[in-house]
Amino acid sequence: MTKQFDLFFVQRFKGKVLFGVPMSDYTSIRIGGPADVMAFPQDEADLADLLTFAASKNFPLFVLGRGTNLLVRDSGIRGIVVNMNEGFKDMLWVEGEKAISGAGVMLAGLLKECEEKGLGGLEFACSIPGTVGGAVVMNAGAYGGEMKDVVEGVEVLNRKGKKGFLTASEIDFSYRATGLPKDAIVIRAHLKFERKDPAAIAAKIKEFRKKREETAAVKYPSAGSVFKNHGLEPAGRLIEEAGLKGCSVGDARISDAHANYIVNAGGARARDVLGLMALVRDRVYSTRGIVLEPEIKVVGED
Ligand SMILES: Cc1cc2nc3c(=O)[nH]c(=O)nc-3n(C[C@H](O)[C@H](O)[C@H](O)COP(=O)(O)OP(=O)(O)OC[C@H]3O[C@@H](n4cnc5c(N)ncnc54)[C@H](O)[C@@H]3O)c2cc1C
Repeated sequence: MTKQFDLFFVQRFKGKVLFGVPMSDYTSIRIGGPADVMAFPQDEADLADLLTFAASKNFPLFVLGRGTNLLVRDSGIRGIVVNMNEGFKDMLWVEGEKAISGAGVMLAGLLKECEEKGLGGLEFACSIPGTVGGAVVMNAGAYGGEMKDVVEGVEVLNRKGKKGFLTASEIDFSYRATGLPKDAIVIRAHLKFERKDPAAIAAKIKEFRKKREETAAVKYPSAGSVFKNHGLEPAGRLIEEAGLKGCSVGDARISDAHANYIVNAGGARARDVLGLMALVRDRVYSTRGIVLEPEIKVVGED
């Protein structure tokens, strides 16, 4: 495997490539074993080449945004992690109110541009870390807003490097999920905003940030909310009612500030977080008869 990698990466691939990198360096919760290979495609052609190469050798692939919704298991990820954070930072404004944003653009950067241009619609995202690509795939949202409200469509490459475009209805957005084909890599999102008074945009952002005080108090690394809300029942409240605030397995701990956050209080491993998640699910089921569904994505090998 290494020789084939060497040839491809030396002769053809333009981006950076790293071998055996700890995924704990690439996830917000600072947990995760090594990735065999991490490749940073420089542009669409570079990514298409990488995909064709990986498909021809049957190498598995995992696509990484900013790793803010991820738990990588302790033995890491086999195959190639495609890091979208270097090559897909392009941003094109069209017709005044529309943007075509590279998947690697940070959501916060996009929101800042919207604010400067007096374009509303993305204010809900003011405290969501991560990339535009990750936000679309997760249908990230808060305070009643979600990505589906601003996405018109996405440019994608499939695992063979073939390009396509999917409209919002084809993306099939739902609560913190999309029906995107499993092999689709989002390379750009086509977004639509609405003209708004910049002062009103700033006021909305201020209001939403104030509501974040609880989670802003989470001082240790995390991956945000671990479980999805159950209908109108916030997962955090169910966990708190089950008496689990502050509970821990190893260095993985249910945050005292927000019960739906599991934090890494130092040297937590993925197996600690998974143990704590299992405990939460059991306890909430036995107290309320509700099966909590994870919001975070768990990937890699034990
Ligand atoms: C402190 C904190 C607060 C948070 N608050 C919120 C919140 O309020 N609302 C909310 O919805 N989320 C929240 N999150 C979770 C997270 O920030 C979002 O889900 C975010 O959109 C993930 O983006 P990312 O780039 O980090 O994706 P990653 O975590 O890297 O990836 C998430 C998933 O998307 C896939 N993916 C990423 N990029 C691509 C791509 N270009 N093409 C195909 N697949 C891709 C990955 O394979 C993975 O399955 C929070 C997280 C933290 C740490």
